[in-house]
Amino acid sequence: MTDSTAAALTLLGTLTDRAPEGTWSAPGRVNLIGEHTDYNEGFVLPFAIGHRTAAAVALRDDDVVRVGSTFSDDVVEVSLADLDGVIAARSLDWAAYPLGVAWALRAAAPEGVARGVDIAISSDVPIGAGLSSSAAIESAVASALNDVWAAGLDRVALARVGRIAENDAVGAPTGIMDQMASMLGRPDAATFLDCRTLETASIDLGFAAAGLEVLVIDTLVSHAHASGGYRERRASCEAGAAALGVSSLRDVSVTDLDRARTVLDDETFRRVRHIVTENQRVLDTVAALRSEGPRAIGDLLTASHASMRDDFEISVAELDLAVETALSAGALGARMTGGGFGGAAIALIPKDRIADASTAVERAFAASGFRAPHTFTVTASAGARRDA
Ligand code: ADP
Ligand code: MG
Repeated sequence: MTDSTAAALTLLGTLTDRAPEGTWSAPGRVNLIGEHTDYNEGFVLPFAIGHRTAAAVALRDDDVVRVGSTFSDDVVEVSLADLDGVIAARSLDWAAYPLGVAWALRAAAPEGVARGVDIAISSDVPIGAGLSSSAAIESAVASALNDVWAAGLDRVALARVGRIAENDAVGAPTGIMDQMASMLGRPDAATFLDCRTLETASIDLGFAAAGLEVLVIDTLVSHAHASGGYRERRASCEAGAAALGVSSLRDVSVTDLDRARTVLDDETFRRVRHIVTENQRVLDTVAALRSEGPRAIGDLLTASHASMRDDFEISVAELDLAVETALSAGALGARMTGGGFGGAAIALIPKDRIADASTAVERAFAASGFRAPHTFTVTASAGARRDA
């Protein structure tokens, strides 16, 4: 049993005398490549990581849903009859994630399956570090309720439930990548997702056999203008698509870029070029993994970073330094990952050089006067599951 599962069971014991019905868990994720492509109906390639959020659940005799988490001292309870109103009021803090999942799952499931439950949550996914602790809690709770309510939804439907909770109960306008990665992960594989059709394919990474690991360098930088920057980038993409006469940038290919340059102003062109080339890099990464193996993807990762730094302009000095230092220390490829303006970088590194690379990054940050980053490795791991 993992520490998180044990902690969730201990917390559940403080919420109820009833025996646990079971324990479930779901992972966070790292996006290997494909940044800001999701809302342009493009391609992404995330993988589920070994850090997981556990949910322990007991059934109740009434219609109350009660949630607790080791992350917070509050225990929040709502009766199923009041759930719609409570969600609409948007007054819940962290409990909007699990209760939003209960609300969205009840709407998606056959009528009458929902009943009262106590849910206790614990996690070792770092919160707010760009590893999607939010999708981990959503997917763990969705999997648990799907089973204890016998709702019968499949994994993709549960990913949709998590996204609805995050969009409509929490109020965060995110795509479905994180929930799909958390629901569909497999060990040493990534989830290739077409954000237009929601078609997925599991792509073997082969990192373990090639002696490679992914180092995460969390810069701990979070810029106040991140959400404004995100909105501006989305608006640029929409403007670029409109000027090019397509419904989304998914429909623009690398060979269209010469024409795009004559139609668009310089800034919009560079925003468009990032999305168009990034979609191609995701496809190239999938092809390289299938035909040549993981050592062949390093340059694509590094090219992705250069595109985000120079064309999309969402990197910051700390992320650039993390990438450059990792490359100098033997990484095959490195890039910032996540929305940008801070957050984490990832580097694909031979296992025996991880320790040296971490040290090199820490030294480089100190020499530049930057706050010491958090560095740790992540392993591509299984998606959401019932553990007991
Ligand atoms: P990220 O997904 O990058 O970690 P988000 O801001 O999307 O960051 O989600 C973090 C939020 O999700 C937390 O502030 C909290 O409200 C909720 N959350 C995540 N994990 C837990 C947990 N184990 N217990 C309670 N709430 C959690
Ligand atoms: Mg999140």
